[in-house]
Amino acid sequence: MTRVLLASRNAKKLAELRRILAAERVAGIEIVGLDDVPSFPDAPETGATFEENALAKARDAAAATGLPSIADDSGLAIDALNGMPGVLSARWSGKHGDDQANLDLVLAQLTDVPDERRGAAFVCAAALVHPTGPESVHRGEWRGTLVRAMRGDHGFGYDPIFVPEGDTRTSAELAPAEKDTLSHRGRALSLLLPHLSDLSG
Ligand code: IMP
Repeated sequence: MTRVLLASRNAKKLAELRRILAAERVAGIEIVGLDDVPSFPDAPETGATFEENALAKARDAAAATGLPSIADDSGLAIDALNGMPGVLSARWSGKHGDDQANLDLVLAQLTDVPDERRGAAFVCAAALVHPTGPESVHRGEWRGTLVRAMRGDHGFGYDPIFVPEGDTRTSAELAPAEKDTLSHRGRALSLLLPHLSDLSG
């Protein structure tokens, strides 16, 4: 078995990543979490792109532990805000990880934006970095529109206001497994899977 570290400290995101990887079940690979390895410092996210941040997190984890490491960076790119909050999605209101405050701010900012211009995309970059150097990074996108009032209890972050293209429910109203098959995170990870299979030899 090759041990691969899933390097995420965001509990809800981690649950999705774990669920997606478990559903895909790559032979010969055992996924471990940050709780299973000695702790190492969390570097600040300073990249200008999702890809840079995902690679930086995976590189840090691989260097600190000596294990091949997977990390993701994700966010919501809103058309009417020229792609923001983007890489700043987790700290848009100024407080890192305050999902409700971030979502409230986005809703307030979009108050006067008409329904036909409320398009947005969830974006995820997923990176796999091997301690000896090889790295890969893939992007998944999920387009939709932003509604004016929150609906649904599943998921996290901006899910309660995001209605995926082709649906009328918000992504917080989708069953978790359904979200995984459609989501930016599911798509990015499925592109990464062949590289994961390569590791098992
Ligand atoms: P990071 O990848 O840890 O920098 O954080 C990503 C942030 O983007 C989260 O805190 C959420 O606000 C938002 N986000 C990313 N993916 C999702 C998703 O699947 N649903 C809802 N919000 C998301």
